[in-house]
Amino acid sequence: MFQSPMHFYIHHYGTENDLELITRGALDIQAAIEALEAGKVEKARQLWVKVKGEDLLETWNNQNKQAKKIGPKSKTLTESPIGPKTKAVTPSLAKKIYERDNYRCRYCSLPVFTRWKKSPILKLIETFTEESKPLRIVNGSMHGTGKSGALRNCDYAKFLWSLAACDHVFPRSLGGATDETNLVTSCSGCNYSKGNLTLKQMDVKSPLKR
Ligand SMILES: [Zn+2]
Repeated sequence: MFQSPMHFYIHHYGTENDLELITRGALDIQAAIEALEAGKVEKARQLWVKVKGEDLLETWNNQNKQAKKIGPKSKTLTESPIGPKTKAVTPSLAKKIYERDNYRCRYCSLPVFTRWKKSPILKLIETFTEESKPLRIVNGSMHGTGKSGALRNCDYAKFLWSLAACDHVFPRSLGGATDETNLVTSCSGCNYSKGNLTLKQMDVKSPLKR
């Protein structure tokens, strides 16, 4: 049994180093945020600079390529929809879920970050503009990630795997409900790794049963 969808995905498409890289990156960002909040600016800078955006970007792009090459695993739906596709998650519902889960992925337990106004990620970028080009904060919002820019941007890639996603435990495409009983906080790594697969198909323990 796999610990999380990301573990499942990396087992099939990645390497052990990928998991180490992703985990280290998420924890260093969290530590940088905490250092900044505690007024330890230099420590925060060191941690932020240390996160290997270039490697994380390469891993993200490689996973993409590998997944396409090896086969459309995420399209092998063997379960039938239990109902019509439910409504999308609103930002206010997502916020409620993230707060409930204390901004941690319910699958792999890594910290997750939003790019919303007042997100601690934005504070890091704002403080370390020199170290985070070409990202910039204008009127409290992040810029510099537009169009395909995000997937070529090593600074954005620092938290690409760790961006918060509101995940339907039972896939929305199969009729999974859009409510607090079926939604959990997920990192983008786990969310992306799931595709439309069910946890049963991936052999991943349900986060709802913990
Ligand atoms: Zn995760």
